[in-house]
Amino acid sequence: MSSNNGGYKALCPACGERMRIQPGTSESLLSKPIYAQCKNLWCSATYEGVLSWDVVIHKSAIAEVPLPTSDERRGRKPARRKKRGQLEG
Ligand SMILES: [Zn+2]
Repeated sequence: MSSNNGGYKALCPACGERMRIQPGTSESLLSKPIYAQCKNLWCSATYEGVLSWDVVIHKSAIAEVPLPTSDERRGRKPARRKKRGQLEG
């Protein structure tokens, strides 16, 4: 009877019960509308929201994504990798 929404648990803001999540459709890969329905029969609240990606933590090896990196967002320069063979200490 239990359903797994990809491991993501959302709780109803009204009663704290788990909610059933239904993804909407979007042409963008950066954001997606989602709908949620409270599983508490006596509450039965429904919500609409957006699931969106804001920051790149680790860049893709195959494509550029039009999002800031976590370093850019914090106002820092992107971290440079140390040259191979250079040891700290
Ligand atoms: Zn509820």
